[in-house]
Amino acid sequence: MRFTHIYVEERAGNYPLTGEILGKLPNVNIIYINHYKDVFDRKRQNAVLQKEHQSLIIAVREGSRIFRGAPVCQSFGQKNFYYASSMMNCPFDCEYCYLKGMYPSSNMVVFVNLEDYEKDVEEKLKEGPMYVCASYDTDLIAMNGLTGHADFWKKMALNHSDLLVELRTKAAPEIKDDISNVIYAFTMSPEEVVSGFERNTAPIKARISAASYAVRNGAKVRFCFDPVIRIPGWQDAYKRLVEETACLIDYSKLTDVSVGTFRISSDYLNKMRKAYPGSETAWYPYVIKDGVAQYEPDCDRQMQEFVTDLIADHIGREKIFTWN
Ligand code: SF4
Repeated sequence: MRFTHIYVEERAGNYPLTGEILGKLPNVNIIYINHYKDVFDRKRQNAVLQKEHQSLIIAVREGSRIFRGAPVCQSFGQKNFYYASSMMNCPFDCEYCYLKGMYPSSNMVVFVNLEDYEKDVEEKLKEGPMYVCASYDTDLIAMNGLTGHADFWKKMALNHSDLLVELRTKAAPEIKDDISNVIYAFTMSPEEVVSGFERNTAPIKARISAASYAVRNGAKVRFCFDPVIRIPGWQDAYKRLVEETACLIDYSKLTDVSVGTFRISSDYLNKMRKAYPGSETAWYPYVIKDGVAQYEPDCDRQMQEFVTDLIADHIGREKIFTWN
């Protein structure tokens, strides 16, 4: 990953992780700043242009770091469902990504005060076992070589048996560990969706091979058919995808599978539409229900049922989770 500029909060300079990251990025221009928001929250940024020339901001996260899972996200039946935000923005560039409507900038922020995240988790664990999606606002696995954040969450899981961590990815990592409370969640999308809407992500064949390797090594693996996108010929595309995965991976060895059609907060969608006037996904005529933009209900149901039925040929329905 090439960054055009590296911004470093002055107070972040004292953290060992800052030194480790900078050590991996020789010959870069470092600009010291007071607060990450001075750069990240600047007015009138061109998020599209920034994505082409992404900068990295190294910062310290104050205030809330762990959040309750949003209703549009799947809890997989877990009661204490949280997500953590230890990085903001992503090296990948999915056209449908809600981050485009959530953040004013496409630059990436990496927080280096991981010991504070550890304290937060330990505090919440006092209330009972918790499930943390650590890779929602980014792709921690894709960035792990630089930031080590995925390794941090794995270590957290190893040290806390009552913590269940999900690491979701569109990369194709080589997973050799089999930590019983870490779930590697691979997003599975048909080739047409990957090439049309998931820029810079790993090709679907590579994701399937990586998932197969992880399963063989005993890792907990989740398949996420999420978001299901209504492309022309979507039925055939998803049928081929499920067949291809089932050919290479024994579904009975998967932890579970999620199915979810595209949905996004209507507020984020409005911001995405402004920033991306040519985006096919942003300008689809969704319906708004309870503040969430989604496919029209019949169409949404048809898509979820169709994909769920395909998957149910390979794994029990009790292991398939849908978002509504
Ligand atoms: S991989 Fe996930 S977080 Fe990254 S751009 Fe795509 S949808 Fe967004």
